[in-house]
Amino acid sequence: MLSKSNNRSISEQIYRCVHCGYCLEWCPARDASYFDIYGSRGKMLVFKALLENKLKITKTLSDRVLNCALCKWCSYKCPEEIPTDDVFVSMRYEVAKRDLMPTIVKKVVKNILKKKNPFGVSTSEITQWAKEMKLKKDSETIIFASCMNTTMGYMDLIHNFSFSFNTLARIMDILEKLKLDNLIMIGTRLFNLNKQYHQTLRNAVKLLREIGIEVGYLFNEEPCCGKPLHTYGYLDEFQEYAKWVNKLLKEKGIKKLIVVNPVCAYTFKVLYPKFIEDFDLEVSHIVEILDENIDKWSSIASYNKSIVITYHDPCYMSRYMSLIEQPRRILKNIENTILVECERSRENTYCTGDGGIEITHSTAAKKIALKRVEMLLKTKPEIIVTTCPACISMLRYGVKLANKEKEVQVRDIVDFVYEALRHHSS
Ligand code: SF4
Ligand code: SF4
Repeated sequence: MLSKSNNRSISEQIYRCVHCGYCLEWCPARDASYFDIYGSRGKMLVFKALLENKLKITKTLSDRVLNCALCKWCSYKCPEEIPTDDVFVSMRYEVAKRDLMPTIVKKVVKNILKKKNPFGVSTSEITQWAKEMKLKKDSETIIFASCMNTTMGYMDLIHNFSFSFNTLARIMDILEKLKLDNLIMIGTRLFNLNKQYHQTLRNAVKLLREIGIEVGYLFNEEPCCGKPLHTYGYLDEFQEYAKWVNKLLKEKGIKKLIVVNPVCAYTFKVLYPKFIEDFDLEVSHIVEILDENIDKWSSIASYNKSIVITYHDPCYMSRYMSLIEQPRRILKNIENTILVECERSRENTYCTGDGGIEITHSTAAKKIALKRVEMLLKTKPEIIVTTCPACISMLRYGVKLANKEKEVQVRDIVDFVYEALRHHSS
């Protein structure tokens, strides 16, 4: 799998590395863990040694290849234009093939394959947000809510209590065997952990209605897009899974997906066509829809006092999908909004510590989140606006680490636009 990238074999790509080190400055994984092996140059040297049989694939190597946010910064910086993210995913494939992935990764994979979402939560939990939204099931255009938007509150809880993900996976396995896992889920549901993320989904539907787009929703039949399978190198499984999702969507007569999460949007837009032959669905991130329809809502979007914001570009929006100007146009079209650009924005954006690293190397991920928040705080924003649930979760944690919870909020762009419409009409 992924034997080639940009028409060159993965081993050719590894040999193209000239060890210049341009990729090391601002590599979040290396920033958090100091040694070269955590950056692309170090990884490339190790991969070369593997190709030359000087090293073996071991658990230690598994740890090193996973200590990376797949943020694509190194690929963007590389003068040789090496698609480093493809190389890393291929190496993860070799690790997964040898069953050397950590417990938590295996658990996530098992949950996606069996329960169709990474956390293994019930479908009633995932669809809870859509209650009372009067969404049709049979529509050619659907909102793809994504299991990240529907369950990200669990990540907030895990970050805040500093649980080890591997221990958590083992505990969940034991509870599953004792058939007690659902009780835990019911218990956590009582605290309504996903409240804010669910509100974003409701606001997305309301905004789409405002501009005249009525979407359907697959409710309990909405599958995970399968990205974690790809992220962790389970590429054969990802391909099979993508085929299954494609068949399901086609059987439902779906022609267009409007996606609130950039990771899923990228998976459908870019990865599915690479992995399956007949994927022909139209896919848009909601930011693209809001931007295309700016005339329909911007004249009624305003805050009643000036508000200073900064925008964090999620890696999947900027470096993966080049959706850079769209969110800025949206934000600049809201009256009384003062958008201040932070250092490292647009294609130069700095990861917030997600992309899979938050699960496998949570200590490094938290250092990265804090570093990113410190950069964003230099603009003295009242609100940090972004558009990815995983970034929101990590940024909120970073704000907490910086002890700035009372001074700055982290909001999804959907909520920020929706609130502007409400302020205007109030
Ligand atoms: S920038 Fe590219 S060529 Fe230079 S060390 Fe990094 S991966 Fe290798
Ligand atoms: S993808 Fe990002 S975190 Fe991973 S090695 Fe490259 S710059 Fe570092």
